[in-house]
Amino acid sequence: MARQKSHDLAVVGSGLAGLTFALKSAQMGKSVVVLTKAEMADSNTAWAQGGIAAAVGENDSWQLHEQDTLVAGAGLCDPEAVRFLVQSAPEAIDWLVSLGAQFDHGSEGGLALGREGGHGMHRIVHFLDRTGWEVERTMIQAVRAEPRITVVERAFVTRLLVEDGQCCGVETRIDGMGERTYHVDAVMLATGGCGRMYRHTTNPRVATGDGIALGVSIGAECRGMEFMQFHPTTLYHPQARSFLITEAVRGAGGTLRNHLGRRFMYDYDDRLELAPRDVVARAIEAEMKKRETWCVYLDMTHLSSAAIQHEFPTIYAKLREVGIEVEKDWIPVVPAQHYSCGGIVTDLSGRTNISGLFAAGEVASTGVHGANRLASNSLLEAIVFAGAAASVGSLAWKGGTAALAGPARAIAETEAVRIRRSLQRTMTENVGIVRTNAGLSAAFEEVGSLLMEFDSLPEAPFAPYPLETRNLLVAAREVVRGARDRTENVGLHFNVDL
Ligand SMILES: Cc1cc2nc3c(=O)[nH]c(=O)nc-3n(C[C@H](O)[C@H](O)[C@H](O)COP(=O)(O)OP(=O)(O)OC[C@H]3O[C@@H](n4cnc5c(N)ncnc54)[C@H](O)[C@@H]3O)c2cc1C
Repeated sequence: MARQKSHDLAVVGSGLAGLTFALKSAQMGKSVVVLTKAEMADSNTAWAQGGIAAAVGENDSWQLHEQDTLVAGAGLCDPEAVRFLVQSAPEAIDWLVSLGAQFDHGSEGGLALGREGGHGMHRIVHFLDRTGWEVERTMIQAVRAEPRITVVERAFVTRLLVEDGQCCGVETRIDGMGERTYHVDAVMLATGGCGRMYRHTTNPRVATGDGIALGVSIGAECRGMEFMQFHPTTLYHPQARSFLITEAVRGAGGTLRNHLGRRFMYDYDDRLELAPRDVVARAIEAEMKKRETWCVYLDMTHLSSAAIQHEFPTIYAKLREVGIEVEKDWIPVVPAQHYSCGGIVTDLSGRTNISGLFAAGEVASTGVHGANRLASNSLLEAIVFAGAAASVGSLAWKGGTAALAGPARAIAETEAVRIRRSLQRTMTENVGIVRTNAGLSAAFEEVGSLLMEFDSLPEAPFAPYPLETRNLLVAAREVVRGARDRTENVGLHFNVDL
């Protein structure tokens, strides 16, 4: 039976990448449905603290931004993608401002620019320490005002529709409505990261690698998943959830100390606390091992209480809730999974190797991060590449029948909890900041057998958690495979046996 097209385009995910693509496509006359599995603002985007990198400062230039990005990427960036990213950055900021985003301004009236690890200049456009929230708020407001966009919340995309090798729709489970299929010209995967495969992560609960699993299920090419970024400084507290202490704190002069009070970065890198993330994360891990301690400390006591409350109000309030007074106490911190540099391979317009399937944001691998992402380049990447994808004409509607790809079977939630814990244990122990050949082989086997076990368990009624657990297993298999096959230590991949 011939099918009716419901919209021109379907977007999976309502973070910065998904909403940018939706808005720009709608402005070009397309009808768009945005499907998002939780509330609209549930995303990594809303949690971003530091800001967005753009060479808009007086002595800065896209060439300097490009240079810093290439250095962080350790020789594995795609230079063309990097140039496109950094040259598009000022325009991306202007676009957000035109939509109503508020960024901090300095006393002279221009944008106040922060500095973060790996950047040679002050170039981080920000709004206090909740830039992501401001950006997400702005995007939601703009999308809600656009009549060509339909947003469906609590709509979990479970499978992609494929016909003659072309992606032409999605199957979803919508809370209270059951199953619903959307037939469209093209699908944008903007599902964000996969941090939940690790025990400690800064990512929210929606970051379960769904886009990687959906893409891989129809043969989308995936690369660089071994380049997993660990944020050096997340709160270590037995009673509190992992909470990120932004790089900007170190940019503002925050220092790292071991339990003896020694500023240990002197022993590891000349750039001290402003060395790139991977260097700082490895130094912290090495220091913790050497001293046999559970954490190190971030000291921002050089700042006045008023300055901290002004510049880092969220951090100040959050830490106070757990009894830490940052103007006089050092903050206990540990590294935690933070960002996935790899993903579904795309060209400069977000196109994957599957016709009709686009990807943008953290789920995609555009080539800009190489072996390591420069801080604050990811929000920028989400806007720039999702925007470029919107300007590519979508493919012609084909009609006819289409097959659903990939398994969307759920198992009992209790079994899924057990399997996810095993996954998190093996990923944390074997595929963390420092890796070994034996650990990677063990992880590869364990992830494979957990996947087999999942698929052999009896099917249960649909629930998001089990399906997300399976997606995490598929994404983890890509991470471990990439790490096992990499024969050199580069960027974020560090195997002591190489
Ligand atoms: C704590 C924290 C701080 C950060 N700070 C910064 C920073 O200062 N600067 C910077 O550049 N980057 C920062 N990052 C990284 C940055 O926030 C993310 O890389 C970026 O926001 C990713 O945007 P996205 O649109 O790709 O994905 P997200 O914003 O994560 O959005 C993904 C969306 O997909 C939805 N989704 C997922 N699976 C499905 C499915 N199966 N069906 C339907 N919907 C689905 C989710 O619910 C969500 O709406 C930070 C990240 C974290 C976690």
